[in-house]
Formats: sequence, structure tokens, C-alpha cells
Amino acid sequence: MAKRDYYEILGVSKGAAADEIKKAYRKVAMQYHPDRNPGDKSAEEKFKEAAEAYEVLSDQDKRGQYDRFGHAGVSGASGRGPSGQNMEDIFSQFGDIFGEDIFGSFFGGQRGGGGGGGQRRARGTRGSNLRIKLKLNFEEIAKGVTKNIKVKKYVSCQTCAGSGAKDKGSVQTCSTCGGSGQVRKVTSTFLGQMQTVTTCPGCNGEGSTITAKCGNCKGDGRVYGEEMVNIDIPAGVQEGMQLNLSGKGNAGERGGAPGDLVILIEEEAHKELVREGLNVAYELHLSFPEAAFGTSVEVPTIDGRAKIKIPAGTQSGKVFRLKGKGFPAVQSYEKGDQLVQVNIWTPQNLSSEERAVLEKLSNSPNFRPAPEKSQKSFFDKMREMFS
Ligand SMILES: [Zn+2]
Ligand SMILES: [Zn+2]
Repeated sequence: MAKRDYYEILGVSKGAAADEIKKAYRKVAMQYHPDRNPGDKSAEEKFKEAAEAYEVLSDQDKRGQYDRFGHAGVSGASGRGPSGQNMEDIFSQFGDIFGEDIFGSFFGGQRGGGGGGGQRRARGTRGSNLRIKLKLNFEEIAKGVTKNIKVKKYVSCQTCAGSGAKDKGSVQTCSTCGGSGQVRKVTSTFLGQMQTVTTCPGCNGEGSTITAKCGNCKGDGRVYGEEMVNIDIPAGVQEGMQLNLSGKGNAGERGGAPGDLVILIEEEAHKELVREGLNVAYELHLSFPEAAFGTSVEVPTIDGRAKIKIPAGTQSGKVFRLKGKGFPAVQSYEKGDQLVQVNIWTPQNLSSEERAVLEKLSNSPNFRPAPEKSQKSFFDKMREMFS
């Protein structure tokens, strides 16, 4: 059977705008919709044909191919002929064409077999998410840490195992919906009479009602209490990061799923080190003689102390880079560095004896500033430091 022209199927001209095509498809799809033509094979074929036409004409690339080469240009594209097109796929296009609100519930009741809308609501009410702050020091962040924390929250009631019922006999199948949690309702829409499926008002979708409540939780299925939660913090987290522990939040009501526990990471300020992303900055104060003679000093790092050699004649502002002594990245093997910036201490109080010695030295040519042209400027260093 020769394939019909896609434009002809939708009843639009070759130059039709995208909007026009959408509108035309909507019209044809409604006309031949299987629910309005039960058992009508030819209507179903026309419905599928329209869906295929729309699939091609609504896609700029496919439409271009079709305009140039006809059906041959697009036949391989989806690998489906008109009869091979799955109804589920066709319905899934409808979300953006008609809006989910009407069609979501409408098709939900019709589609059977794993369709989205036809499922019974889960029991109970889901518990809310819980947010807690967790303060970590640099050492903990650098290595990663496991924290065992007492969390105050709603926990499932032990007496009734979360059901909220006094005993087994006090749980009754809902008489309104017969336990399905849903009721069918016929409503009028612009498409005509539609059957919709909604949550049962008798049991709130739970399928059962409780005749006698658990004395411990007063029927909620949960009580306020506390739980010890193990939190594995990966190395390299940062201030403001959030970790989500699924199911560790507040217990749900009457057996509902628990919420999540959201951990908000806070960094405890370090006495001597400052974090800049993966890098760590440290300000090293040296006396003038130390810088002039050269020395060996110990500096704090996030992983104990490290020794660094200060060469003779080190200038104030010089930055030493301790490779790999910064923070690890959370998601990769990358590691930051520690940057040690030298500050040379200028004496602020001098005895007359010290003054005399310095005065003697001050005229010496070696004590006059003579920066080399090749030395990097302050601004270059700043840029380098935090790059
Ligand atoms: Zn209870
Ligand atoms: Zn019900």
C-alpha cells in the first residue's frame, strides 16, 4: 500500500508553520482516537498514521529530509512503519501537545499494563526531609570521615510497626474503593465524556481505613524520637555542599516512605590555614636574619607538619608551593597544593643597641633594595597563587 503524503494526512500545506502542524495533528488525533472509536480498526490506523506524520513534520531535521526525499528520506529514521508504531509512544507524545493535566489522568485509566497513571498510591504519607548542619575540620575534610550522629526525628512506631492500627483486626478494607485506593469518575471535557481515575476520598488512596488506633502513636504510625545515623563523608567536601541520605529523614505516617536526611556541610575555620578551593594558603612569618641567612622551618598542613627549606636571600612575598598538600577533589583524583607565602618581619621596637647596629648596616650597598627585573610582580604572584 502506497504511503500517503504526511502533509495530506494532517491536512496542512507544505509551507505550514510548526504551530499549524501541531494544531492539525491535535484535531486529527482527537477525531481518530481509539477511545472515541472503540473497535474501529480503520480509525486506529488513521490515528497511527497521523502520529507518524506528526513525528516527522514536528522535527525540523526529519521534515527537511522528508521534503527533499519523500518517505525514502525518513523511513530509516525511526525504523517503524505506521503499523509498527507503538501506541505507548504515540501517547507519550501527547504530553507536550495537549498538556498532561487532562490527558495524564485520561490515558492513565485506559492504558493498562505498566502505564503511568493507573497505579495505586503508596500507603501512608511520605515523611518530610530533614536538614542538619555538620561542621567538619580541615583534617576531617582532607581524609574523609564517618560520623555517627544522633538525629532527632519522627521514627516508625514500634508498637504497631508503623501501621497506626491497634491490631490486625482494626485495619479494614476501604468500602468506598474496595481497597484499590482509586475511584473512577466520568467527567465532561472538551473531548466529550471522559473516564478519569482519582484518589479515593474515603481512604485517601491507602485502600484501607483504621477502626481502632494504636495507643502509642495515636494512629500516626510514627512517634518523635531519635536515631543514630552513620554518615560517610567523602574526602574533599566543601562548605555549602549537601549530601543526601535517602530514607534517613522523618518516618512517614502510617507506613509511608521516610523522607531524606540532607546533610549541609560546614567548614570549621582553621587557626592558621585558609582554604581556596582545592588549595590551602599559609602565611609564613620570618625574621630578617632568617630570610637573609636561609633556614629550615616547619609549617602546618592539613596533614600534620611539613618541613620546608628557605633559601638564603628569600624576599618577602615569595610563595612556596607544596605540591599535593592541598585538598583532594570529591569526584576525581585531583589534589590541590599548599601555598606558603613568606612575610618578613620588620622590627617595630628597637633598643638603642639594635638601632646602632642597624644604622651601621643601613648604608651598606647590600641593604639597598635592588629588585631584579625578572622577578615577578606582586600581582602576577597573586594571580599564580590562586590559579
Ligand atoms: Zn503505633
Ligand atoms: Zn478507598
